[in-house]
Amino acid sequence: MYYIDPAECIDCGACEPVCPVTAIFYEYSVPMKWHSYIAKNASYFG
Ligand code: SF4
Repeated sequence: MYYIDPAECIDCGACEPVCPVTAIFYEYSVPMKWHSYIAKNASYFG
């Protein structure tokens, strides 16, 4: 699994359409079933 540091991400959106498994979303559009991953991504970077 790859992580995106929310402090470094500038929300440019360049990664979203090129992800081969559709695993990247803007935070406001993360599907409900994957909301737990928002905190997991943030906590990875402390
Ligand atoms: S939206 Fe994606 S490509 Fe753009 S800064 Fe954030 S992680 Fe990087």
